[in-house]
Amino acid sequence: MKIIMLGAPGAGKGTYAKKLKGKYNLTHISTGDLLREAIVQKTPTGLKAKELMDKGELVPDEMIRDLLKEKLDKIETGIILDGFPRTIEQAEMLKEIAEIDAVLKFDVEKETVLRRLANRITCKDCGEIFHTISIKPEVEGICDKCQGELYQREDDKEETILNRLKTYKEKTAPLEDFYKNLGILKNINANLDMSDPKITVVEECQEILDEIENKL
Ligand code: AMP
Repeated sequence: MKIIMLGAPGAGKGTYAKKLKGKYNLTHISTGDLLREAIVQKTPTGLKAKELMDKGELVPDEMIRDLLKEKLDKIETGIILDGFPRTIEQAEMLKEIAEIDAVLKFDVEKETVLRRLANRITCKDCGEIFHTISIKPEVEGICDKCQGELYQREDDKEETILNRLKTYKEKTAPLEDFYKNLGILKNINANLDMSDPKITVVEECQEILDEIENKL
């Protein structure tokens, strides 16, 4: 099974990808995480990417293609793509190498994004996502999963968030029509907070993935 998580920054793509991957044996591929790893390792790609990421701009398509190719070659399970594709060019490139079963589009309002990202804290080691208000770690500043240090991403500062939203609207939002035309876009209301007991977002995603799994 091959799934794309699509949606503005802060829509919950990474959080839901992590919640879904186990049940369907999917490898979670986040291009943002791959780039952050490259930055930590100070590779030439990482050094070039950092400046653009800190400003809320996209990195060049070729850079993403090279990073992904290396990763995809090694994977033998289904995949859940998070943060890729982000441009029509990337979607065209993906079409050449993989047949996508569904695109889960997380619909979210600007106010929700601003509130979520301004309070988001991420594990430096494993990338697990927490929130200072709605998904608190058991011990402040420490990841529940791996005990790594939690930090606020440089690009989760308000000024950068606004630019990331602008970039999404200009470059990534056109993918909604691209995948709608292919008949594989599934809209999901992702405005509720992840700690809300009424939340059904994960179940809504599972219904879609169950249907795909039954057809495979
Ligand atoms: P994310 O972790 O998905 O929010 O990505 C963080 C940043 O990494 C983005 O704001 C971009 O600068 C860069 N990035 C991640 N994925 C891509 C992609 N597919 N194409 C271009 N830039 C990307």
